[in-house]
Amino acid sequence: MLTLNNLCVHFPTKNGLVRAVDDISLTLHPGEILGLVGESGSGKSTVGKATLRLLDVTSGNIVLDGEDVTHATGSGLKPLRTKAQMIFQDPHSSLNPRMTVGRIVAEPLVIHTKIRGHRLTETTAKILDRVGLPSQFLHRYPHELSGGQKQRVAIARALTVDPDMLILDEPTSALDVSVQAQILEFLKELHAERPRMTSLFISHNLAVVRYLCHRIAVMYLGKIVEEGPVAAVFSNPCHPYTKALLSAVPLPQAEQNDSRIRLEGDLPSPVNPPTGCAFHPRCQVAVAGKCDVEPPNWVDLGNARARCHLIEEQAE
Ligand code: SF4
Repeated sequence: MLTLNNLCVHFPTKNGLVRAVDDISLTLHPGEILGLVGESGSGKSTVGKATLRLLDVTSGNIVLDGEDVTHATGSGLKPLRTKAQMIFQDPHSSLNPRMTVGRIVAEPLVIHTKIRGHRLTETTAKILDRVGLPSQFLHRYPHELSGGQKQRVAIARALTVDPDMLILDEPTSALDVSVQAQILEFLKELHAERPRMTSLFISHNLAVVRYLCHRIAVMYLGKIVEEGPVAAVFSNPCHPYTKALLSAVPLPQAEQNDSRIRLEGDLPSPVNPPTGCAFHPRCQVAVAGKCDVEPPNWVDLGNARARCHLIEEQAE
């Protein structure tokens, strides 16, 4: 459904070139949910926005459902908008406060279809019903809704054009825990109903990724460092950064939380990334003279892969 080939998104700034996304390659098969995780600033959201061409791509290419959309602009973007839609982190700022829910959800239908008049209202009400909102909501404004209701409206708006691909950028992190669970359940149901529906689920919440996703890709400073099936990566993380991230997930048993690997320092600047392996200044097992000099290659781990000199040595 989606292939990213050597994707780079760089931003020139007065301080230098920000390498927000630096040479990442990913494949999402139809029906799959891929969780893209990493610390804030690792480039996850930039990948999502570039995939939908909300940002320009510096190099590499994006193939969506067999079509190269890397340089689509203007009217060339219209077919892309019916194939792929994005759901943003903050449902409040992603909805126009001057429009009613009915107009917000109907807008993509007006742009992409010939449905008008009574049928437009009927179709909009049906889509709202699908996300669990009754038709009375058609006349309400975003400020009259709770956070969960706003996110349901944002999901309804994305579903109007019947897309096969969803980019979900932290869709539950601004919501209360109970509402998060409802939205996650709904996303699961949606995937069960639509076998072709494919999702790129951007999140820093590893528990949510484990619950919802089939595969996981871990990003660090604009690069993917480990990728594989959720079950394999969670049960046997290979990359030291993935190990540190997973060890930070709180566990019910207090003694298990003692094994946490604490990451020292902050994410380095993408303007001036460390040489060799970008993770080496924070890596507890870095090998001096190698990790700070040579960038690691991908190591094939069967159905998973990781980028690390130590894993490469162990695999030899
Ligand atoms: Fe750590 Fe070296 Fe592996 Fe990078 S390549 S994660 S610095 S051991």
